[in-house]
Amino acid sequence: MDPLQTPIEYLKGVGPSRANLLKQELNLHTFQDLLHFFPHRYIDRSTFYKIKDLPRNSSEVQIKGEIIKTEMIQQKRGKRLVATFDDGENNMELVWFRGHQWIKESIKLNKSYVIFGRLNWYGNRPNMPHPEMETLENFDKGFSKTLQAVYPSTEKLLNKGISQRVIIKMMGELLHSIKNPFVETLPEDLIAKYQLIHKNEALINIHFPQDQTRLTAAQNRLKYEELFFIQLQLLMKNLQRKQKIKGFVFEKVGDHFNNFFSNNLPFELTEAQKRVIREIRKDIGNGQQMNRLLQGDVGSGKTIVALMVMLIAADNGFQSCLMAPTEILAKQHFNSLKSMIGDLDISIGLLTGSSKKAERSQLSEQLESGELDVLIGTHAVIEDKVLFKNIGLAVVDEQHRFGVAQRAKLWRKNTIPPHVLVMTATPIPRTLAMSVYGDLDISVIDELPPGRKKVKTIHRYDSNRLKVFKFIADEIQKGRQIYMVYPLIKESEKMDYKDLMDGYESISRAFPPPQYQISIVHGQMPAKDKDYEMHRFIKKQTQIMVATTVIEVGVNVPNASVMVIESAERFGLSQLHQLRGRVGRGNDQSYCILMSSHKLTREAKTRLETMTATTDGFQIAEVDLKLRGPGDLMGTQQSGVLQLKIADIIKDNHWLKIARSDAQELLREDPRLDAHKNIPLRQTLAKMKAYQNIWNYIS
Ligand code: ADP
Ligand code: MG
Repeated sequence: MDPLQTPIEYLKGVGPSRANLLKQELNLHTFQDLLHFFPHRYIDRSTFYKIKDLPRNSSEVQIKGEIIKTEMIQQKRGKRLVATFDDGENNMELVWFRGHQWIKESIKLNKSYVIFGRLNWYGNRPNMPHPEMETLENFDKGFSKTLQAVYPSTEKLLNKGISQRVIIKMMGELLHSIKNPFVETLPEDLIAKYQLIHKNEALINIHFPQDQTRLTAAQNRLKYEELFFIQLQLLMKNLQRKQKIKGFVFEKVGDHFNNFFSNNLPFELTEAQKRVIREIRKDIGNGQQMNRLLQGDVGSGKTIVALMVMLIAADNGFQSCLMAPTEILAKQHFNSLKSMIGDLDISIGLLTGSSKKAERSQLSEQLESGELDVLIGTHAVIEDKVLFKNIGLAVVDEQHRFGVAQRAKLWRKNTIPPHVLVMTATPIPRTLAMSVYGDLDISVIDELPPGRKKVKTIHRYDSNRLKVFKFIADEIQKGRQIYMVYPLIKESEKMDYKDLMDGYESISRAFPPPQYQISIVHGQMPAKDKDYEMHRFIKKQTQIMVATTVIEVGVNVPNASVMVIESAERFGLSQLHQLRGRVGRGNDQSYCILMSSHKLTREAKTRLETMTATTDGFQIAEVDLKLRGPGDLMGTQQSGVLQLKIADIIKDNHWLKIARSDAQELLREDPRLDAHKNIPLRQTLAKMKAYQNIWNYIS
C-alpha cells in the first residue's frame, strides 16, 4: 500500500484520540492529508529583538533571554503566573492564565530561552501572554530558525492541547518517517518549462522553509501543480463527456424556426446573437449532449436566443423547458415568448409553484402526450412528477440561482439527457468560468442591441433626497416610469420590511394620488397580489414601482427609465448591476441613482464607485470577485472546486491561465496520457481518483 495512505493515528505522537480530533476539526485522515495540510502563513524566526527595541504595537516578536523569577498572583477570578524575563539589559513579564502548574514546574530558572509571541502593552511596559518557549539549546537544534509555519487551527484543537508546536512536531515526524522521497507528480518538461522545484523539495520547504526564496519556489510549485491538475481533470472530463454522452441530434432547421425567422422576428438580431445561435446549432447537431453556458450582460437579448433554440428543438420533434428563478420572471418569459410566437403552431405552458391543481394535471397530460412543445416555469418544472413525452432541451435562465443538483435532475427526464443551455447575466470573469465551469462550453453575447443608451449612474446621499424626488417627478412628467428598490437581505427580516413600508409611505406622501399611482411588490405578498401590482406597472397604470429585490432578475419594462436604489451600500455589486439592468431597455436616456448614507465602509465605497464608473458587467464581475472571493460569488454549491489548498484563484490568476493552457496543450498532444513522459500524470490522477472527491459538484 501507498505509505501516504496510512491513517494518521499511526504517526508517532498522534494516537487514536488526537487522530479523532484532527479528523473532526481539520478533516485530516491520512499521512497524505497531513502532508498536504499547508500553512496559511509564516512567522519570521530569524530576527531577535532586544526588549528596549520592541515595536510599540501588538506584533509577534522573538526574544532571547533568561527567566529570573516566577510568581503566582491571586486575582479575583483565578490565578495568573507571571515570570520575569531578562534579556541581559532589560526585563519584561511573561503571563499565563492557564496551565500554571505545569508551566511553573517546567520552567528552568537562569537558563537561556527563546520566547516568541504577541506583545501586550501596559503604558510603557510590554508583556507577553502565553509565549511559545524553547530552550536556546533546543532552538539551535530545531528545524527552522528562519520562517516558521503557522497552520490553520481551531479553538477546540488548541484547548485539547494540539497547539501549533504540536502540529509542527507532527509534520516533522511525518517528513522523517516517510523514507521514500515523494514521487514527482508533474512531467519533467513542465518542470523544466517554469524551472519548478521538485515535489519532494517543495513539500519539505512548504512546511519547513529554509529561506524565503525556497519558500516562494515551493509555493509556486505547489500552486501550479494544484491548478494544473484541476484543469487537467476538468478538461479530461469534458473530453470524456463529449465522447461518451450521446445527445439528441437536432439535425434540421424546419418550419417553426424558419417561419419565426421570416415572419415573427421583432427586430434584427445582433451579430453576437447570430454567432451564439450558430455555436449552439453546431452543438445540438453533432450527436453529443450540449452543456453550454450562455453569458450575456443584462439586456443583451438572451431570451430570443433561447426561444430560437427551442424552435429548433420543436422542428426536430422535441419538447423544451425553460426554467426561471422566480415566479415573476417565469410569467414574464411566458408572456413575452407567447407574444413573440404569435400565431406559430407552437404550444407553450406555464408551471409555477402557484399553479392550481387542475392546471397542473392538464399540463401533465399535455406534456406526456407531447401536445405541449414548450414548458416554462420555476423549479417546479424539474420536480420528479413532471414527465415529458420527449424532452430534448432545457434552458436554465439566470443560472446562478439554480443549484448544480437541480441541473443534474434534468438529466433524468429522458432516456438520453437533454441538451442544456444555462444562461446567466452575471458575467463570470473568464478565468473563474474556466475553473468552475470547465465542464461547460461557453458562449458570450458581447454586444448590446443597437440604440441602447448607457444608463447614467449617480451616487447621492440620503440628505439629497428632495432633489432626487424632484428629478423623479420630472421624469414622470415626461411619461417615464420609476423603480425604487429597497434592500431585503432576508425577506423575513422585520427591519427591512419596515424600511420598505416607511419608504413606501414617504414616497406616497411625495407623490400623492390621483396624480401619481404607485405599485408595491415584495416577497411577503401573495403571488397573485404581486402579479396584480406588476401588471399595473407594466400597463403603465402606475408610474412608480416600489419593490424589494424580487424585481432584480429579468423584469422587462422598457418604459421605465429611472432605477433608484435605496441603501445601495447594502447591496452586492452583482445585485446592483442586475438592478440597474432593469432600466435602459427602451430608447430613452435612463438613470440609476444609488442612494446611501454617509457612513460607508471602504468596500461599500468601492462598490458604489465601480457602479458609477462602468456599465460593463464583466468589469464589474472582476471587481466583485476581488472584493468577495470566488466562493461567495458562485454560491456555496459551486465553490467545491474552489476550495483550493494553496492556490488562490484571484491572486494566482497568472498561474491559473498558464496551468490551463498547459493542460490544454498536453491533452491535444496526448489525450489519453499515453506518452512515457506523462506517466507521473497518469499515476497521480489515478491516486487522486482514489481519495479525492472534488467532482461531486458535477452531476
Ligand atoms: P437578457 O439578456 O437580459 O435576458 P432580454 O432577452 O430580456 O435580455 O432582452 C432585453 C430587451 O432587448 C428585450 O426587450 C428584447 O426584446 C430586446 N432585444 C433583444 N435582442 C434585440 C435585438 N437584436 N435588437 C433589438 N432589441 C432586442
Ligand atoms: Mg433575461
